[in-house]
Amino acid sequence: MHTNRRFLLASLALILSIPLAAPAAEPVAVTASFSILGDLVSVVGGPRVTVTTLVGPDQDAHSFEPRPTDAKTLLSTQLLVTNGLGFEPWADKLAKAAGYKGDKVVATTGLKGLTPAPAPGADKHKGHSGHSHGTVDPHAWQDPQNVMVYVRNIAAGLTRVDPAGATIYQTNADAYIKELQALDTWAQAQFAGLTPAQRKVITSHDAFGYLGARYQIQFLAPQGVNTDVEPSAKQVAQLIRQIQREKIRAVFVENMSDPRLMAQLSRDAGVTVGAALYSDALSRAGQPGATYLQMMRHNVSQLAAGMKLN
Ligand SMILES: [Zn+2]
Repeated sequence: MHTNRRFLLASLALILSIPLAAPAAEPVAVTASFSILGDLVSVVGGPRVTVTTLVGPDQDAHSFEPRPTDAKTLLSTQLLVTNGLGFEPWADKLAKAAGYKGDKVVATTGLKGLTPAPAPGADKHKGHSGHSHGTVDPHAWQDPQNVMVYVRNIAAGLTRVDPAGATIYQTNADAYIKELQALDTWAQAQFAGLTPAQRKVITSHDAFGYLGARYQIQFLAPQGVNTDVEPSAKQVAQLIRQIQREKIRAVFVENMSDPRLMAQLSRDAGVTVGAALYSDALSRAGQPGATYLQMMRHNVSQLAAGMKLN
């Protein structure tokens, strides 16, 4: 009897100890298509989520080709977060090919004020881009106001797959939206002293249309919105003439672009290329664009300094 009771108590302790000894609820596994979204998911999810990013820092999401390991990653996650607007056409194909059955968030869902993609190398202010391809510019994260929509969509997606975390996701999203508002106000102040004639920038590919629309800056790019499309020699020559005619000194290359095009442009137009801007990818940790907020502060500072030379 005595032994029996001890055995029973031991068994009971074992049973009771199982939930206590088990780790706290498993974090929600999320796949983000590229690094900027990965950062936003981490901010909204906090320690409740683990994020895997398919296109990492300093990499080009336009020309990304998923590897078999990416299909494996995706299948082990509960939520796939993409930008949409044709930015990562490979993401839906990957999900389909892998047989992914989890939830999805398209971060730009419900976004207002989308702008059409300008034609590569076109001078938008001369009606030269009349033959715009009719597609939408996907780089909507370059306007902090748009990222508020991204963050709300991400919070809603996380809440769908993890309803117990709803309040936490909402609180994190609200706090981050305040930071985005502060970023926007700060950016307005950085550009405030520039004249309309100074507000012109050359970048390698056309990733900054939304930033330009928000802060009244004209961006010119030889490569258009998609890095897959090589600009023609004629388009590059037109851009060089424009740089010389309008005396544009704010010339930048992006962290994920091939720098050779801008080196040629810089040489032929006789201008110096400024520091790298972070357009479609964050920097690695320890570099100036390791989070969305850092990347935007870096870009805005560089752009404002560059345009002062115009
Ligand atoms: Zn891009």
